Amino acid sequence: MEIKITKTTSPKVKPKKGEKLGFGHIFTDHMFVMDYTEGQGWHDARIVPYGNIPLAPSAMVFHYGQEMFEGLKAYRGDDDKIYLFRPDMNAKRANNSNQRLCIPEIPEDIFVDAIKAVVDVDRDWVPSDEGTSLYIRPFVIATDEFLGVAPSKTYLFIIVLSPSGAYYESGLAPVGIWIEDEYVRAVRGGMGFAKTGGNYAASLIAQVKAHDSGYSQVLWLDGVERKYIEEVGAMNIMFKISGKVITPALNGSILPGITRNSIIHVCKEWGYEVEERKISVEELVAAAKDGSLEEVWGTGTAAVVSPVGKLRYMDDVMTIGDGGIGELTQKLYDELTGIQWGKREDPYGWRVEVK
Ligand SMILES: *Cc1c(COP(=O)(O)O)cnc(C)c1O
Repeated sequence: MEIKITKTTSPKVKPKKGEKLGFGHIFTDHMFVMDYTEGQGWHDARIVPYGNIPLAPSAMVFHYGQEMFEGLKAYRGDDDKIYLFRPDMNAKRANNSNQRLCIPEIPEDIFVDAIKAVVDVDRDWVPSDEGTSLYIRPFVIATDEFLGVAPSKTYLFIIVLSPSGAYYESGLAPVGIWIEDEYVRAVRGGMGFAKTGGNYAASLIAQVKAHDSGYSQVLWLDGVERKYIEEVGAMNIMFKISGKVITPALNGSILPGITRNSIIHVCKEWGYEVEERKISVEELVAAAKDGSLEEVWGTGTAAVVSPVGKLRYMDDVMTIGDGGIGELTQKLYDELTGIQWGKREDPYGWRVEVK
């Protein structure tokens, strides 16, 4: 694939070393853009200065939400090389989402090459402070000017880049999680397994409710019986119960996290028994009460591994262990971040250098 590169003539001032980056506020100098037209396929791959895109107010994405997104990071190693983590998995997942949303598939090699190319152009934007990274947001939107309900015939595939700060500013810290018993995020047969804006729109109301009650994240139950644990909405969830690692099976309404997949792999390598199965909220509450619930953590690209210190379900507030960071949780965090930032051996071949 040929990518035409037009560099900016007015580069922005980059954040300085030590400057607080936060998440998702700052964007780099360039972005990747590619068009899709029915009959022609994907065409005109280009890297252009970051900026607004012209869209008709009738563009279909604004009305019926036909869009897909991905999320991954570029990491600067101590050797100053730039690494990605399993980008082929994002390419595959993007197409699973695309299929569900009637968006034309993007060839996996083009998806990964586009990421590498735009990160390479903006490689000086990959921050170097401990725990920082360059967040990569590929997405596709439906652009037809049409108010009928149907798949669009034209699309834009765009990749924007955002330098982001360490998720934990002062080291790994446990979070409190609200198990939502009123609203649901996704149902079987719906689009819970797809990374698409609609799932997030559906989740906001419970997020606000949880925040108002002093919890940082929502843990969703299944949309049918409201009984089985699903996921945290931007993270998958794992439990250590009586020495075993247990996580909800991918059932169609849970997003198949790449961090989840990686952690399961590492746990098995380390000799842990891992069960991917249904786990009911009753089983969880019972395990918390009888002391067999040893550790709880979330997994996702943003935080990598997020220790859970407290879980609330209706009238039960459960403290996990001593409310601190579990031993396995910490070990998994160290292993995965070690591989991502190039500080540790990569026995699984997950790290991909951007050259
Ligand atoms: C992206 C996402 C995750 C985590 O996936 P990773 O690939 O590990 O970052 C989990 N749940 C939802 C709903 C997501 O959108």
